[in-house]
Amino acid sequence: MNKKDNILIVGAGLCGSLLALRLAQRGHQITLVEKRPDLRKVTQDAGRSINLALSDRGLRGLRLAGVEEAAKKLCIPMNGRMIHDRENNTFLSKYSGRKNEFINSVSRPGLNMVLLDAAEALPNVKIIFNHGCETVDLPQASATFKNYETNEEVTLSGDILLGTDGAGSAVRQSMFMHKKFLFSFSQDWLTHGYKELEIPATNDGGYRTYKNALHIWPRGEDMLIALPNLDGSFTVTLFLPYKNSDYCFENLNTPERVTEYFQKEFPDALALMPNLAEEFFNNPTGPLGTVKCSPWSTYGKTLLLGDAAHAIVPFYGQGMNASFEDVVVFDEILDKYEAKKDEKTDWETVFSEYEANRKKDTDAIADLAVDNFHEMKEHTASPLFQKKRKLETAFEAEFPQEYYSKYSLVTFNEHISYEEALRKGRAQDKAILNLIDDGKLPESMPLQEKLKLVKRETKEIMHDD
Ligand code: FAD
Repeated sequence: MNKKDNILIVGAGLCGSLLALRLAQRGHQITLVEKRPDLRKVTQDAGRSINLALSDRGLRGLRLAGVEEAAKKLCIPMNGRMIHDRENNTFLSKYSGRKNEFINSVSRPGLNMVLLDAAEALPNVKIIFNHGCETVDLPQASATFKNYETNEEVTLSGDILLGTDGAGSAVRQSMFMHKKFLFSFSQDWLTHGYKELEIPATNDGGYRTYKNALHIWPRGEDMLIALPNLDGSFTVTLFLPYKNSDYCFENLNTPERVTEYFQKEFPDALALMPNLAEEFFNNPTGPLGTVKCSPWSTYGKTLLLGDAAHAIVPFYGQGMNASFEDVVVFDEILDKYEAKKDEKTDWETVFSEYEANRKKDTDAIADLAVDNFHEMKEHTASPLFQKKRKLETAFEAEFPQEYYSKYSLVTFNEHISYEEALRKGRAQDKAILNLIDDGKLPESMPLQEKLKLVKRETKEIMHDD
C-alpha cells in the first residue's frame, strides 16, 4: 500500500471540489474547507454568475473524476453566438463548422453540488463549511480559519495545503505577505464591470428567445450577453464601463436612465426583461480582472490552483474550464511522481513540475480572454469579422481535420495547449484578415485554394514572430 497523505484544501468552489474528489479517488485523506455555507442547503445569492459556459477542457476534468455524465444532465448545448444588432436583426454565428462541436450552459451552483455530492460520498473526504481561511503557515501547511457560526478560530493542517480559494485567495495573500521568498503578483482590472440580470421564463416555463445559443448584443464599448438556464430563464450579463462614458455604471443611477439606456441599445432584450430596473439596482456590480502570480508553491508544502493562481476575465468562457484542466494536468504529474510503495510523495517536485508545465498556458488563456473581450464587444458586429468567421466555418465543415479556428483551438481542441492555441490562433486571424483585406480571397477562388493560402500565410507569420 502506498503511503497516502493528509491534504488540506482551502475553498470548495468548482476547482477545489473537483480536486478534492480526484485526490480522494487516488486514496488521499482530504479535508476540504469552505468559507460559505453549504450551497446545497441555502438559497443562492442573486447576481453571482449563475451560469457558465462549459466546454471540452472542463468536460475532460469532469470525465477524469467520473462525473461527466452527471454534469451533462445540467447542460444546455449552445451551438453558436446569436448576434443581435441595433436594428433588432439576429443571426447565428456558429462556434464551429464541424458537426457536434458546441459549448454548454451549466448552472454554477448545480455543477458545484454535483462535485460536492460526489466528493462527500467518499469515506476519505471531510467537508467543513462556514470556515474562512485567514492566514496560512506556509512551511507547516497549516491554516487558521474563522468559524463564522461560533466566531472561534480553528487551526487545521495537512501534509500539504492546496489553495483553491478563488480570485481573492487568502492562501495567495499569505504567500504575498511572507517575507522569506520573492513572490510576483499582478492584478489588472478592466475599466468595465459586470452586472447580472434576467430574462425570466414564460408563464408556462418556456424560453422567451432562442434557447440553444449564447446571445450577444455587441455595442462597441458595451455588451450584453445571455445564457439559457434549464428552468426557461436566461442569465443576462451587462458589461459596461464604470465611468467616463455616456452610459456607465456611475451614471445609470435611476430606473428611468437604465430603461432609457436599454431602450436605446438593447430594445429587443428590454422587451424580454420585465424586472430590469429592480434587478439592476438589487444586483451587485462586479469587477473584471486578471490575476497572475508566481511562484504558485512554497516549501513543497503549499500550492495554488484555479482562480487563486490565475484568475482571468470571462470573455473566452474558460476560467472554470482552465481550473478543471489544472486538475487534469496535476493528476498527470501525480501519475509520474506519486509515492511508490511505503514512501512519501515528493510534493516539491510535483509542485514545481506542475507550475513549469502549466503557467505558460494559464498566462496564454489570460491574454486570449482579454483579446476576446474586444472581439465580442466590437468585432462580432463588423462585416470583416463576419466574413472571416464565414470562411473559417466553411474550412471547418469541408476540411474538419485540417483547420481549427482560434476559437476552436481554445474551446474544442483539448489536445493542444492554450499557449499553442494562442500562437497559432493569433497568426491565423492575422493571416485571414490580411488576405481578405488585400482582396486575395475572392469569392471565385475554390475553398481548398483559400485554405492553402491561409495556411501558407499563417506559417510565415508564425515564423516571423
Ligand atoms: P471559485 O469558483 O471562485 O471558488 C473559490 C471558492 O473558495 C469559493 O467557494 C469561495 O467561497 C471559497 N473561498 C474564498 N475565500 C475563502 C477563504 N478565505 N476560506 C475558505 N474558502 C474560501 N468560466 C468558464 O469556464 N466559463 C464561463 O462562462 C465563465 N463565466 C464567468 C462569468 C463571470 C461573470 C465570472 C466572474 C467568471 C466566469 N468564469 C467562467 C470563471 C469561473 O467562474 C472561475 O474561473 C471559476 O469559478 C474558478 O473556480 P475556482 O474554484 O478556482 O474559484
